[in-house]
Amino acid sequence: MKRDLLCVPCGMRSLAWVSGRGEIKTLVKGKVKIDHPEPIFIRTPTSTEVIPVDVCVCDSCNTPLPRGADAVARTISWKDEPVPEDVGWEADYLESPTPVEAA
Ligand SMILES: [Zn+2]
Repeated sequence: MKRDLLCVPCGMRSLAWVSGRGEIKTLVKGKVKIDHPEPIFIRTPTSTEVIPVDVCVCDSCNTPLPRGADAVARTISWKDEPVPEDVGWEADYLESPTPVEAA
């Protein structure tokens, strides 16, 4: 399973992709509802560096996605993959997540 938070142009562009065999692509849109995402942890055998992140960014083009910005949450899973327990992760990031329908 792969999860991405995307800006609207990147999210909508991904609708045009042809999914691979057995691949299931789910997109929902909404407004970003968090101020600061979780920090990034870089671990080595001897240390851990914590890098604070000021704002969500598009996982494709790196456009900042501040609280209130329109965004698309994309999940790519595979047909035979077990359903994870935390389905609905989009609601952790987006206000009123709404499914995006292909045009
Ligand atoms: Zn983008």
